[in-house]
Amino acid sequence: MIMPLMTGGYTCKQIAERASGYLDGDLGALEWARFRVHTMACSICNEYVRQIGITVHLLESLPPTETEQMRSELMGLYADWSDNHCTNAHGNDGGS
Ligand SMILES: [Zn+2]
Repeated sequence: MIMPLMTGGYTCKQIAERASGYLDGDLGALEWARFRVHTMACSICNEYVRQIGITVHLLESLPPTETEQMRSELMGLYADWSDNHCTNAHGNDGGS
């Protein structure tokens, strides 16, 4: 059911950039669908989003004033992680 071309709707880096919005429910319907298709097809991004989800849930139990900075720092770490690992691991959705 997963069409490879649709996976190319987003690169792994774009997934990383949208992970926060996805978890916050801020993505539009099309963005959300593309995001889901990519994460279903890409085990690396799937794991990546799962871990961010866990982190966000943990942060939600802390006072908001503290979580804002922690959250942006963590997202920065995740973005780095994605740059260094995800794109190297399987390219920018160019197939392979
Ligand atoms: Zn990916």
